[in-house]
Amino acid sequence: MQKFLNFCFEIEFYLKIAISCTIVQQVFYWLLHDIEPNFITEVLLYWLVGSISFYCIGIFIEKGIKSNDVLMDKLTARVKKVKKQQFPSFTLKGIITGEIKAFIAALIILYLAPEVHRGNSLILNLGWFLMRIVAADFCFYVSHWLWHRKSLQKIHLKHHEFRDSSSFVAGHKSILEYIIVTITDVLPIFIFGYDITQLCAWTVIGNAYNLEGHSSLSIFFIPSDFHDVHHTDFKGNYGIHGFWDRVFNTLNSPTKKQGIMFPVSWLENRIIKSSISLERATDSRE
Ligand SMILES: [Zn+2]
Ligand SMILES: [Zn+2]
Repeated sequence: MQKFLNFCFEIEFYLKIAISCTIVQQVFYWLLHDIEPNFITEVLLYWLVGSISFYCIGIFIEKGIKSNDVLMDKLTARVKKVKKQQFPSFTLKGIITGEIKAFIAALIILYLAPEVHRGNSLILNLGWFLMRIVAADFCFYVSHWLWHRKSLQKIHLKHHEFRDSSSFVAGHKSILEYIIVTITDVLPIFIFGYDITQLCAWTVIGNAYNLEGHSSLSIFFIPSDFHDVHHTDFKGNYGIHGFWDRVFNTLNSPTKKQGIMFPVSWLENRIIKSSISLERATDSRE
């Protein structure tokens, strides 16, 4: 039963990503399908959607949710406490460098990948996004696992300057790590082509789960302290979520948290509670 629940727990994450991407894709399709944007408009759109969503979601989590004690109490996922760290403040130079990097990446990706139009079929989009998140999780797992080998750790140590974590730590990485993450993230579109509406949706949702994963909170996509454990212990939990870690036996058990709309965690909680009350009832009869 526990094995089955763990499997559902991982699949729930993939499904949430695929469904959310499909919904956001429909919005971009509705906005863009009459326009037929040219190459440079697509580059600007992809870059701006990525950057604006990154800052908006990060600020919403750090300044909005984290300033509300009731929400913090309900959503905090991190169990292992670590010494509070001062996170680096934003500087104009840092923001500009980051945006130049993101713009160049958008330009290269759209230049190299062939363009396709996949329309707005819900089933086809859902299938595409499901394939992409499972593939992206696998690619990230492999590269992240490699960066934790002694000889390659240099690439990744900048990201691990924080044992505690905060949303914007998601973007704190060396240039080489940034390039590898970007390539592994968009790998399928070099083979299958890009549809600008899908690409924009993927970026928005990617930013959302990445920022949430580093926020120490469990809001909507991340149902545990999975990545907090990785930052604190520096080993295990190399994937975006736990599926590939479970497959390859590198899972460093996270603590599940119910957050908002996590049916599997909710179900598991109910089962545990009812089995405890059943045991107590049996004990009291004996
Ligand atoms: Zn790491
Ligand atoms: Zn991280």
